[in-house]
Amino acid sequence: MAATLIDGKAFAAKVRGQVAEHVTRLKEENGITPGLAVVLVGEDPASQVYVRSKGKQTVEVGMNSVEHKLDAETSEADLLAVVEQLNNDPAIHGILVQLPLPGHLDEDLIINSIAPEKDVDGFHISNVGLLGTGQKSMVPCTPLGCLMMLRDHHGSLSGMDAVVIGRSNIVGKPMAQLLLGDSCTVTIAHSRTKDLPDVVRRADIVVAAVGRPEMVPGDWIKEGATVIDVGINRIERDGKNKLVGDVDFASAAERAGAITPVPGGVGPMTIACLLANTVTACCRANNLPEPEGLTA
Ligand code: NDP
Repeated sequence: MAATLIDGKAFAAKVRGQVAEHVTRLKEENGITPGLAVVLVGEDPASQVYVRSKGKQTVEVGMNSVEHKLDAETSEADLLAVVEQLNNDPAIHGILVQLPLPGHLDEDLIINSIAPEKDVDGFHISNVGLLGTGQKSMVPCTPLGCLMMLRDHHGSLSGMDAVVIGRSNIVGKPMAQLLLGDSCTVTIAHSRTKDLPDVVRRADIVVAAVGRPEMVPGDWIKEGATVIDVGINRIERDGKNKLVGDVDFASAAERAGAITPVPGGVGPMTIACLLANTVTACCRANNLPEPEGLTA
């Protein structure tokens, strides 16, 4: 393997350390404890695992964690009432409604009912607009984590050619906006892109956010490029259950300059950035200086 491994697990631990330090300062100097509320509707097993993990890490960095577990039949009105109560609670600085929601609930309506300044997932339409116009916003956690790792590795990203594969609202589009904000020349590829291998071969930075196991082979990667693999795909290999990314790690690592592994790359950064967003939201709510290096 020629590429440098970008260790998301270690980086996430560093981010959590910075968050914890800032939380301690907020408590000691301002008497404020940041609070994160997570709302889970239904019993989706993957969502339950995420919510448990978020709650545990929130407490570990010294913040208050509040969980609202509602049954799968919860009405839209009841869910909106829970969000409204959290919007009005001064002890809560971040609100996250775990997606996906059961089919009878309108996700856009619910997300847009969260107070934008408490929307630590960065999915509220106001935050999407603020990010798109280069203004201070809450930035979606997964793309923020990717940006932090890229900045850490390269310093400045200015002038680099970046290709983001995937145009979802939660990863691809905000990722592209962030790279543009850091003065990359950005191409967004998707399922209708012509000659995807050629598009990817031009990139100094490749961010793959597709959800197709190992679809990007090493020979698409420009020599020395940086590869950020967002994909999380569960496959059966040699009779075992395995997690793989959207990039064929072994062949890509032969050509890339740096690459994130799956697992242990982007994944751990997502929750670390949720904690970072919560402490940022708390500082903004109290007109206090924001922690450095934890926002876009
Ligand atoms: P979506 O399914 O919402 O979006 C996938 C995107 O990939 C779409 O824009 C789609 O294009 C594009 N696509 C599909 N097939 C191809 C193809 N053959 N060639 C090029 N583009 C293609 O997924 P998400 O953005 O939500 O997630 C992407 C991956 O990232 C998943 O594996 C998910 O599990 C993972 N993920 C990981 C997170 C983490 O914390 N590490 C957090 C969030 C997601 P089109 O729009 O044309 O259909």
